[in-house]
Amino acid sequence: MIVCRSAAEIDKVRQAGRIVAEALDLARRLSEPGVTTKEIDAQIEKLIRKAKARPAFKGYRGFPACACISIDHEVVHGIPGGRVIESGQLISVDVGAELEGYFADAARTFPVGRVTEEAATLLEAGRTALAAGIEKMCPGNCLYDISAAVEAVATKAGFSVVRDYVGHGIGREMHEEPQIPNYSQSTRGPRLEAGMIFALEPMVNAGGYEVSVLDDGWTVVTKDGRLSTHFEDTVAVTIDGPAVLTTL
Ligand code: MG
Repeated sequence: MIVCRSAAEIDKVRQAGRIVAEALDLARRLSEPGVTTKEIDAQIEKLIRKAKARPAFKGYRGFPACACISIDHEVVHGIPGGRVIESGQLISVDVGAELEGYFADAARTFPVGRVTEEAATLLEAGRTALAAGIEKMCPGNCLYDISAAVEAVATKAGFSVVRDYVGHGIGREMHEEPQIPNYSQSTRGPRLEAGMIFALEPMVNAGGYEVSVLDDGWTVVTKDGRLSTHFEDTVAVTIDGPAVLTTL
């Protein structure tokens, strides 16, 4: 069942979302050559706790950090550590926060210094694919309209979308129903209604969509070793259209 939430509840998620957006903005500014991913994670944790929120990823199924930080061909769930960021890399940062029992979740991929033309095109495709999915979050549309819109942008740009990881409902838990694939389905799926809140999170790969998990049990990488991007926002369906809740 997909829960429809009240305007007051959407506002609670928006408050958590603002903290997530602030954390990602900080991560963007910190993603410079010479900085370790662990340092970025520490600053994010400080910001979230200062806002009286809880880093939702820390301890989730044993995840050891506040943010997932994935570099280049790492798709999602990278564990922050001693790795030093270098110019030319793509840094994907995924952050979740819980504030007074409500959750928000978002991710961005940042270019460090000068990146290749392919990386720049991929970034643009990842951003645009998320925007196309968000645009479908209107009452009367259907769930898998989102999936089809996301995939269309990625494939038109010559890229692929990861199939093994999906977007999700969010609100009182970080992961709620439904699952939201980022590629077209054989039906349009359930009708969207005002009050539904989803975390849309397409992962767009430069090469094939196949991924595998490293021996650390967390880090997801592209099988062909090519670049990947991850853009995510927590978004509510409202009678006025999509409302992005993870903004400053
Ligand atoms: Mg998510």
